[in-house]
Amino acid sequence: MEVERILSDLIRIPSVNPPGRETKVAEYLKRLFDGAGIRNEIIESAPGRGSFIATLGEGEKSLLFLSHEDVVPAGEGWDFDPFGGEIRAGLVCGRGALDCKDLVAAEAWAMLQLCKLKLNGKLIFAATADEESGGAYGAKFLLDKHPDKLRADFAINEGGEGPTKIGDRYAYFVQAGEKGSAWAQLKASGISCHGAVPTLGDNAVVKASESIVRLSRYKPRVRIIPEIKGLLDHLGWQREFGKITARNVDALLDAHPDRAFAETLRSLTRMTISTNMVQGGTKTNIVPDSCEAHVDIRVLPGQDREYLLKILRSIVGEDVSIEVPDFNLASFSPTRSPHFRLIETLGDIDCFPMMSAGATDSRFLRAKGIPAYGPAVVARDFDPALKKTYHARNERVDIKSVRLKADFLMKLAVSYLGTA
Ligand SMILES: [Zn+2]
Repeated sequence: MEVERILSDLIRIPSVNPPGRETKVAEYLKRLFDGAGIRNEIIESAPGRGSFIATLGEGEKSLLFLSHEDVVPAGEGWDFDPFGGEIRAGLVCGRGALDCKDLVAAEAWAMLQLCKLKLNGKLIFAATADEESGGAYGAKFLLDKHPDKLRADFAINEGGEGPTKIGDRYAYFVQAGEKGSAWAQLKASGISCHGAVPTLGDNAVVKASESIVRLSRYKPRVRIIPEIKGLLDHLGWQREFGKITARNVDALLDAHPDRAFAETLRSLTRMTISTNMVQGGTKTNIVPDSCEAHVDIRVLPGQDREYLLKILRSIVGEDVSIEVPDFNLASFSPTRSPHFRLIETLGDIDCFPMMSAGATDSRFLRAKGIPAYGPAVVARDFDPALKKTYHARNERVDIKSVRLKADFLMKLAVSYLGTA
């Protein structure tokens, strides 16, 4: 079966999270793998929330192909049925085409080819539930309850950025790390009174606003972490900036023509703080006695909760309370390891380690000591416009790229595990 067919079938199973209903995807994979005689199982963390695991081969070495079955909601305004799985003009169209049913299909296709060989090591395939809502019902559940089923020397997962043009060559990226995330709540309290005599009260919205403005003006310390220094230096030499340091990185990024790429890189050189929701007040003629702001903060490796709290306290002052109910440290897999080098050298391409500003299931693997990498394998003539359909309308992928990814995964498994 062709890989684009598998992808099209997967798109037609609408595993939108919430609620997920990933067991339907797992059942499809089960039929596919049963047909090829590959041992497999569905593990449900809750009714309907099934993850799918399959294995090939035995031996000392082990490799994990990870992906997720769920997708984000489609929303309105598509030019085609988001769950139609239409194949046309060299594209597969629909929700999940890039994130990441293409990877599920490519990894499944590689398994179906590899089951005809005798691998000298163990290849694990795991398509998990719930990645798009934090992974508690998927990767996190599996690693907590069945860690041995996913234990491998290293893992391949989603996460790589699409290629970008640097000079006259394309640069490809392998996601080797992720920033940490902290969702903070700021609360200001005041004294309520009639809006016509405001001096009797103490306005909580004003207090919170002052903190929000100070947060927006805060300039986080710039730090070039070693893992992305190679990429920045490469960009620097290309554009006559020379070696890149915390002092000249902003000038380099300001001058870079690919704005989305430049701003992504900027967010990888510092902590980011973005106040994205505010709730306060009940009526135009009542001075508000409370106001709450929700702040999305992304931290670099080495920046822990204590560090963050100290920074926040120094910016917002004593008038506003700070809570950080959800904090995840940044995670990184080694980039000087033989596993990384193997991924790097499989294609004749300029390949750089990359840190993602967002989060994937790879962080759960790294927390258990399993290095995880997200190589962005796409065709040389990959249309950059497709990148913009990720989590957006009209999501689609070119068949060439999906085939290339599937082929890459098959070669990677053969080359790492070996065959008898
Ligand atoms: Zn994804």
